[in-house]
Amino acid sequence: MTTDEWGNVKKRLLKTVGQNNFTTWIDPLALDASEDGVATINVPTTFFGNYVSRTFSDLILHEMKAFDSTLSRVNFTVANRDRKIAAARTAVESDPVPRAAPAPKPKMAQASDYAAPLERRFTFDTFVVGKPNELAHAAARRVAEGGPVTFNPLFLYGGVGLGKTHLMHAIAQELLQRRPDLNVLYLSAEQFMYRFVQALRDRKMMDFKQIFRSVDILMVDDVQFIAGKDSTQEEFFHTFNALVDQNKQIIISADRAPHEIKDLEERVKSRLQCGLVVDLHPTDYELRLGILQNKVETHRTSYPELELDDGILEFLAHRISNNVRVLEGALTRLFAFASLVGRKIDLDLTQDCLADVLRASERKITVEEIQTKVSAHYNIRISDMVGPKRLRSYARPRQVAMYLCKQLTSRSLPEIGRRFGGRDHTTVMHGVKRIEELRVSDGQIAEDLELLRRALEA
Ligand code: ADP
Ligand code: MG
Repeated sequence: MTTDEWGNVKKRLLKTVGQNNFTTWIDPLALDASEDGVATINVPTTFFGNYVSRTFSDLILHEMKAFDSTLSRVNFTVANRDRKIAAARTAVESDPVPRAAPAPKPKMAQASDYAAPLERRFTFDTFVVGKPNELAHAAARRVAEGGPVTFNPLFLYGGVGLGKTHLMHAIAQELLQRRPDLNVLYLSAEQFMYRFVQALRDRKMMDFKQIFRSVDILMVDDVQFIAGKDSTQEEFFHTFNALVDQNKQIIISADRAPHEIKDLEERVKSRLQCGLVVDLHPTDYELRLGILQNKVETHRTSYPELELDDGILEFLAHRISNNVRVLEGALTRLFAFASLVGRKIDLDLTQDCLADVLRASERKITVEEIQTKVSAHYNIRISDMVGPKRLRSYARPRQVAMYLCKQLTSRSLPEIGRRFGGRDHTTVMHGVKRIEELRVSDGQIAEDLELLRRALEA
């Protein structure tokens, strides 16, 4: 099938499904290939693919067959994996109860029909507070009191796995307890879109609007999802304004700051920015350790027989990156594994069991970092370290830095040479050898190396 033919298929689909459905569901589809009777179509997310496949695949196949009668199947695959799958996964997690057996439909839909289930574990009690998240936590606490609305909206943002959804659920659960009189609606932006499209399809827009305008507190998770989805954005904007006008609290989360969300209309961005915008910073060592210590208690009750060596949690907090979800997953795996093989959790077992995780979050140390740290340590200028001077007081630090580059980066000897004022690779090799010798014979050098290595790996 040619691109032109695909264009024509889309045109025909527009006629059948209507402008709104077309914009939301059909226009984002991209034909990837059609061969051996199978057409492969790229979709932006897994959720999207599932929905389109359930709702429109027969129709799409039908229209495609008009151009290519050999086609018998349509497959949907997620393009652009890195960014989008994360969104799809979040949605699955915040919606763990799939619409399996549809409950008998009540006459009039109400906000509770739209609310996503809350994860019981995500409370303020289980949220560990540290420097990187203290502001977000304080703001979340404040709105969870359910007092007069002081900042609207509260906009929480931060990278994947830093606790946005956790905080949102904590707010919702706290509010449900403190203020049972308030109507709290929590859902992901993806679910907002899903409800919106459903309402359009079923001609229930009045219900939809009425429900969203009747809540006291609206919480929308992962709002970046509606970027580029024009009609959903439009509806979101109206809902938002209607609630703000009534002085109702809105809480939003996203994976980045409002002004950094691409394909989001300016007026939506500026609306999102007009309350309190706080970010969850990447975790630091102390926070990671705190979270691990907290988590370990739950594992201890599940595996009371297991022994955990001192220093293991510290090791994990050092070596595993920012994403708390990865950190938690590592700990869970570690306990399960140790229990299966009936061994205590020591460093060996940890490194065995988590080799892939540890490798994946290995920090990449750069030549520049090494040069900076080493020259600071020996109190010389970087220009002297990479320059031509051969004085011992420059040459030795230079060799130390070369040695560390060889040890801690994956750069080749010629590459390292180039970064040190264009020196030859044999010079680098000589320097590395010299330090290897000194490391054994000279206690001071050994100590320097150890200190520098630790500072660089911190
Ligand atoms: P996000 O929504 O920002 O991607 P989540 O809120 O889903 O991240 O958090 C991912 C996991 O990490 C969850 O299991 C959550 O409980 C946990 N987590 C994140 N931050 C913290 C924290 N400060 N204290 C305890 N658990 C945390
Ligand atoms: Mg989330």
